[in-house]
Amino acid sequence: MNNKIAVVTGGAGFLGSHLCDRLIHEGLKVICLDNLLTGRIENIQHLISNENFQFIKLDVTNYIHLPGNINYVLHFASPASPIDYLKYPIQTLKVGSLGTHKALGLAKEKGATFLLASTSEVYGDPLIHPQSEDYWGNVNPVGPRGVYDEAKRFAEALTMAYHRYHGLDTRIVRIFNTYGTRMRLDDGRALPAFISQAMNGEDITVFGDGTQTRSFCYVSDLIDGIFKLLLSNETMPVNIGNPNEITIEDFAQEVIRLTNSKSKIIHQELPIDDPKVRQPDITRAKEILGWEPKVSREEGLKLTLDYFKQIKE
Ligand code: UDP
Repeated sequence: MNNKIAVVTGGAGFLGSHLCDRLIHEGLKVICLDNLLTGRIENIQHLISNENFQFIKLDVTNYIHLPGNINYVLHFASPASPIDYLKYPIQTLKVGSLGTHKALGLAKEKGATFLLASTSEVYGDPLIHPQSEDYWGNVNPVGPRGVYDEAKRFAEALTMAYHRYHGLDTRIVRIFNTYGTRMRLDDGRALPAFISQAMNGEDITVFGDGTQTRSFCYVSDLIDGIFKLLLSNETMPVNIGNPNEITIEDFAQEVIRLTNSKSKIIHQELPIDDPKVRQPDITRAKEILGWEPKVSREEGLKLTLDYFKQIKE
């Protein structure tokens, strides 16, 4: 893949920065676009002096002009944790709609392959379990999570329209809960929140009765699946995530054990439209990409904990 050029929107974010690393490792040149709303320069600091890496501070909801050849456009820009998209609802809607339009336009102009970072949130509070790609979802368009869910659903529809009507080569990855190094301790998601509370000896805040489930994927597994999808010719959505499902209550206890913390679990109000269950059906990824996750939650949590300890020092 030497000398191929990839644009990563949201490249300074948690997933975007890991994706930049992987693409550079594979021999590509990477142009990273980010307005640093929720992304952070620290995530790409180690790449700044790399001759195959270029960072441009840019809001991709505006027209994107980049000279020269481009082979891949990977659209990862968006606030992505519930706290972030509730804090930035309009920006979330804009980057999923206008930003996707601009990123698709760039790919079309350059004849590049386009990959959309979509989400398990397109399934909303799912009525079938586990979720396979042919499930259409159960989303409340006017609830607080609607800003993210509907933006991503629109982004998928726009991507398919560019594929069908302009013949653009496209991919859609539906990303399930992912964790690992470079997550922000304060992004409000369960995993960093619990680890941060456990490390500080604070109460662990489980929302609702804790019976709701999630399935957590370590970031290296996720990036591997995305890279395989990029190189495939699959244009329909593909779930990438770890099917190992756990209740949030059990997960909180797991974090307490792992951190040897004395923290106690307390229960707080469940956020509106919080999905009751979530588990990816990864049959399609296994069959088409020959991909499945390798990192256990215990192993991944240890790596993440080491990272959080290191950034706290
Ligand atoms: N959650 C929790 N305590 C927190 C943060 C989140 O109990 O401090 C719950 C949240 O209500 C949800 C689950 O943990 O049921 C996962 O939430 P997260 O914010 O990680 O992402 P989501 O999967 O909901 O997008």
